[in-house]
Amino acid sequence: MAGARPETPAARAERLRAEIRRHEDLYYRLGQPEISDREFDALMRELVDLETAHPQLRTPDSPTQRVGDVPVEGFAQVVHEPPMQSLDNTYSLDEVREWVERLRRLEPDAELAFVAELKVDGVSISLLYEEGLLARGATRGNGLVGDDVTANLRTVRALPLRLAAGAPRRLLVRGEVYLPRSAFRRINEEREAAGEPLFVNPRNATAGTIRMLDSRVVASRRLAATLYQVADGAAGLASHAETLAALAAWGFPVQEGWRRCADLEQVAAFVEEWRERRRDLDFETDGVVVKVDDLELRARLGSTAKAPRWAVAFKYEPERVETRVRGIRVQVGRTGVLTPVAELEPVFVAGTTVQRATLHNYEDLARKDVRVGDTVCVEKGGDVIPKVVEVVLARRPANARPFELPERCPRCGEPVVRYEGEVAWRCVNPACPAMVAESIRHYVGRNAMDVEGLGDERIAQLLAEGRIADVPDLYALERDELAALDGWGKKSAEKLLASLEASKGRELHRLLFALGIRFVGERVAKLLARHFGSLAALEVATEEELVAVPEVGPKVAASVRAFFADPRQRGRLAALAAAGVAPPAVERAAAADSPWRGRTVVLTGTLATLSREEATARLEAAGARVASSVSKKTDFVVAGEKAGSKLDKARELGIEILDEASLLERLGPS
Ligand code: AMP
Ligand code: ZN
Repeated sequence: MAGARPETPAARAERLRAEIRRHEDLYYRLGQPEISDREFDALMRELVDLETAHPQLRTPDSPTQRVGDVPVEGFAQVVHEPPMQSLDNTYSLDEVREWVERLRRLEPDAELAFVAELKVDGVSISLLYEEGLLARGATRGNGLVGDDVTANLRTVRALPLRLAAGAPRRLLVRGEVYLPRSAFRRINEEREAAGEPLFVNPRNATAGTIRMLDSRVVASRRLAATLYQVADGAAGLASHAETLAALAAWGFPVQEGWRRCADLEQVAAFVEEWRERRRDLDFETDGVVVKVDDLELRARLGSTAKAPRWAVAFKYEPERVETRVRGIRVQVGRTGVLTPVAELEPVFVAGTTVQRATLHNYEDLARKDVRVGDTVCVEKGGDVIPKVVEVVLARRPANARPFELPERCPRCGEPVVRYEGEVAWRCVNPACPAMVAESIRHYVGRNAMDVEGLGDERIAQLLAEGRIADVPDLYALERDELAALDGWGKKSAEKLLASLEASKGRELHRLLFALGIRFVGERVAKLLARHFGSLAALEVATEEELVAVPEVGPKVAASVRAFFADPRQRGRLAALAAAGVAPPAVERAAAADSPWRGRTVVLTGTLATLSREEATARLEAAGARVASSVSKKTDFVVAGEKAGSKLDKARELGIEILDEASLLERLGPS
């Protein structure tokens, strides 16, 4: 094809790797992306394909090595030398002062200066680089021996797989992996949608993630990291401040907020400054770590069995308040799980008013023995669901009765059951109105089929009046029947019917998500839609075919299989199809022989029939990469009305220019 210059696969791979590394660094370490996620994914896809076609081109530090590998059986053990220690905690500035005084007594002649850093709430890690390449990564474990989680840590894009020039050939560094709040929120939203239990906080989620046996799942979680220590002393550094600067120069993510403090007053100022500001950070922090700056002095101070003498953690007071339990309500979720929820007298904590707190499950509730009328201690961090920590027994009213587990579902009256190995009690009546209502609510949700005009109250009403009993019944609703209902009119009936009509043609991934298949959140739904292209293809996919989809693990695969094998679900799907729900087929991942494969295209100006998004989607589906600016790497420029400087640049560089008609012709039928 004209406009494309010959380039060997090896050169192309190397160029792609360099480009991807640069974008990873911009995104994950510097937080200043230049391209969209889509564009990034397209680059990655191209490199994966290239390396699959030419396995000899794959290098150990290729960004493709971050996508995760097949599950492992267990973790090898790593001995930590030196040991990974914990930190002594302090809970007031007075205690920090005492620590400084202790240091003065130990080293009367030393000049004491400090570095203050935020204490990141994650999981500590140790990384070994050999010949500049990430050779091994491990968890702290018991401090002396940890788990080798190299495969998982490779997927953390903030961590360099290869160090920048000038780094020591062998380097042992320590730091923390953590889940940014935004990623934590997203994961919990997906888990909620998929009917999975929520993570309590980012730290638990991180700890659970980093020890997963399937690194492909780890890759999807988007862990972040920060490094703060060179553990093998090989780098010839004199101070902690120098260490942090060096770590950043070698390509590691280093927390931005750190500051050198000449004395305790400056440390105190740092602590005060972050007391409120820390709530705006994208990571959870419960305190500040204060460290002696001079590394030689640190070595002289040494450590106790548990922690170094040269550092302390200052902990902000946890955000807890007391309030009274007005009632305990049992919610029945979409998957039938019963969750007790405490209704609280409203209190203000960690920036918001809290009126309800989760009691997780009956076991937890029974252990804490929370009763209606109790005064309880409630805790809340930034994004964490507020929780009841404990009961203030001294203030328990004399007549408070222990809360009793209902033996029957509070919504449908059927007996509740507990499956072996599970903590949760659940209602297993498929016709339970709670479950039906939840599944309808999920189906019509904005990120699912996006049906307007059907709020919780109306769903409850339609169920109570016997107009619907399950999702497919929605499509049988009639205008006059609806209009006659309490609180409805012709307008609202018509609006709902129009919205239901529109939902019949929603994209496949929305339908997949809307069906409420266990473990299939929005992201997995998109992956499945793109891979299989149609509901029919997915229905007959085997577990092997399912796990072959990147990021889909055995758990998801089994759940999808079980869903499509379930006669009840098959019945629902048939009813939906009969009602006219028919998502358009999805362009599958591009065929290997597509002439667009690996081509870089830039769009400029306004096209007559295609929107920017449509043109981008179709080009990408055909295997092309759509870039935002013209360079020597551009293969084609598609120019519409009012094309500007990009067109001039393309002419200047002699790049082939297409108009909309020739673009459509070359793309072929959609
Ligand atoms: P703890 O687990 O409460 O004993 O606290 C010690 C842990 O805090 C260390 O093992 C690190 O994992 C973690 N930590 C988080 N941020 C920092 C930091 N800036 N400097 C040192 N340790 C940190
Ligand atoms: Zn029920």
